[in-house]
Amino acid sequence: MNINVIKRDGKIVNFSSEKIKKAISKAADRIGEMTEQDIDRITEIIVNKCDRFPGDQISVEQIQDLVEDTLLKSKFNRTAKSYILFRDMRTRNRDNKSKLLKDIAKKLNGTNIVNQNANLDEASFGGRKGEAANELMKWFALNNCMSKKSRENHLNNEIYIHDLDSYALGCHNCLSIPFDQLLANGFNTRQTDIRPASSINTAFQLVAVIFQLQSLQQFGGVAATHLDWTMVPYVRKSLMKHYLFEYLKDTEEFYALDLDELSDSEIDDWIQEHKEEYLVQLNLTVEDFFMGSAALDDKLYKKALFEVRRETKQAVEGMYHNLNTLQSRSGNQLPFSSVNYGTCTLPEGRLIIKALLEGCIKGVGKHHRTSIFPCGIFQYMKGVNDRPGTPNYDLYRLALESTARRLYPNYANVDWSGNAGYDRNDPKTYFSTMGCRTANGFDINHDEGVNPQTKDGRGNLCPVTIIMPTLAMEAGRDVDCFMALLDTKIHEAKDMLIERYDYICAQDPSAAKFMYENNVMLGYKPEEGIKSALKHGTLAIGQLGLAETLELLVGCNHTHPEGMALAHRIEALFKQRVAEFKNKYKLNFGVYYTPAENLCYTAMKKFKEKYGEIERVSDREYFTNSMHVPVWEEMDIFRKIDIESELTGYSSAGCITYVELDSAAKSNIDALETIVNYAMDKDIPYFALNLSNDTCLDCGYTEEFNDSCPECGSKNIQQLRRVTGYLTNDYKTAFNYGKQKEVEDRFQHIKLTKGWRSEDECEQSC
Ligand SMILES: [Zn+2]
Repeated sequence: MNINVIKRDGKIVNFSSEKIKKAISKAADRIGEMTEQDIDRITEIIVNKCDRFPGDQISVEQIQDLVEDTLLKSKFNRTAKSYILFRDMRTRNRDNKSKLLKDIAKKLNGTNIVNQNANLDEASFGGRKGEAANELMKWFALNNCMSKKSRENHLNNEIYIHDLDSYALGCHNCLSIPFDQLLANGFNTRQTDIRPASSINTAFQLVAVIFQLQSLQQFGGVAATHLDWTMVPYVRKSLMKHYLFEYLKDTEEFYALDLDELSDSEIDDWIQEHKEEYLVQLNLTVEDFFMGSAALDDKLYKKALFEVRRETKQAVEGMYHNLNTLQSRSGNQLPFSSVNYGTCTLPEGRLIIKALLEGCIKGVGKHHRTSIFPCGIFQYMKGVNDRPGTPNYDLYRLALESTARRLYPNYANVDWSGNAGYDRNDPKTYFSTMGCRTANGFDINHDEGVNPQTKDGRGNLCPVTIIMPTLAMEAGRDVDCFMALLDTKIHEAKDMLIERYDYICAQDPSAAKFMYENNVMLGYKPEEGIKSALKHGTLAIGQLGLAETLELLVGCNHTHPEGMALAHRIEALFKQRVAEFKNKYKLNFGVYYTPAENLCYTAMKKFKEKYGEIERVSDREYFTNSMHVPVWEEMDIFRKIDIESELTGYSSAGCITYVELDSAAKSNIDALETIVNYAMDKDIPYFALNLSNDTCLDCGYTEEFNDSCPECGSKNIQQLRRVTGYLTNDYKTAFNYGKQKEVEDRFQHIKLTKGWRSEDECEQSC
């Protein structure tokens, strides 16, 4: 043979008939219709064809064409088909791999920054490293860790697997952290062990540390479910500490101390030694130290309380500072932290709530910028803080002031019907959420004697989201076909979640030592494996684009009665199936109104590629979140709440309702109160007010403005907007393209709300 072969990478090699024979044998082996002699004969024909090939070079692809052609013309049809299939598969694998490498290169170079998650800095070194690795992790998960059905559902834009980059690792999503026990007992870390908190200052520092540590054991958010109650013992410890200090500082022994000589640890020892002694002298016990205690001396108490308040304020500010600066996950992300509070009526708890709200209002840094983390969530509770005369009503008002200026806190409805069965005496069972909206529902695997609504030590394990508009198209836009297909897909979503659950449960506890050794995820029994803890978590079946789905099926969304009637049918099906799965599989399946921060955009892109632009369905850059009313629908605040409140009762794994206000609403706290009260009365579980929040980064001026600061003219401005339930940095840089468009389309519901017109309109008509 005088002909050479050009390989795919451009290398020239000698012609080899053996390689051709091997390729045919592989195809033939799978079928069994060719003998050894048949293979030799066909090989010979192909070699001859190659020999007669014009020129002195032939490419691998050209040889394969000849093999294909020769086999097809022979009587070995089935072998020919097998060869073609095999060749096609190899080509696809090669394409996949080269696409993968290209995707990785883009992430490494930072040339494809999409901001799929508003809290992740994809341009940083840490972000680029992480994102590049994620491409590989996603590819690996799709091709190695799941069934064909799961992969197809994901790739076909029918059922989306969230956090695919974490799938192959087998870690879970989010957790409500049992701070009560961690602060009281201390905990172990890789390098050391941490003693129980002995003051309010250390308690708040540890909260930030624990948030940080836990966020490295999982991929999503971390929350404190009742931080006001949690902190009561540490306020008391600080009170005792300061009380005794004040007393000790007036004794002869104190004046006799040589501070130049004593080491810090000797001072500590001195305090410890004398603490007990002075408690006896003062005829007090540890139990006497609480705010308002009659056993304490008035003057010493006042001095101590003064110090406690200062310490609490500094501790809270320290926590805000830490949670907005300590990056985690290889330095590209802040932990998604949330704190729920508002119901503790003890003076110590009230002190904490006040400090949290005042810290939020004050902001962080030189220009007092709005603190992005933690997401504050005020727990609204009937008879506790909901109306004038209730013990924490003043704090509710303060919360509204904070929301007006900082968008936080959001509002969780403790009396939400979906959280029925909670224990009024146990704040661990009060309705609380992750900032984004994810919530822990009734635990079907609760231990005996534990209230099934307990939130602590549990979280969402993994969500999938059914992309309903795709199903509506596949069902030919026919309602009955759609309902049948949706039912099938809800079942498949369940299968996909069980598949991932089993994968997560197969991991070794040593992969998340902090979480399992310290019982941060509750219920772990080493002899039963990590399933013993994970079985308390949620398997969330999410949904996207109800509004667009209804448009496709009945020509209008749920702002019209016909759309709403079908919306009820759809959501009722979700709820019914999820309840059946929960009982049958003894796992906490839940209906989830998905945040879809990135998915609302990527799913739409895929949808448009397949089905083109359809009016009121795919003529924008994003799908509407879960069952929300489209952001561009013009209606007043109360109607928006009315419509969504009809559907929130079907969800059990989390949902959120927002309304959009303008800057004039900021000074009208009464109006904000009326709105929140209305939403809570309508049984909305989790509610947020969206107000504009723009800050000039040069002079610190804060108001709603367009592209430059009205005070100093600077263009260095930050425009905070809400995404999912959290806030994020400037939306124009931190949001993905679809979400940016969505923000720009957001209709300000206050405009149509009677009695609360914006200042401009008022001036004109007054
Ligand atoms: Zn300025």
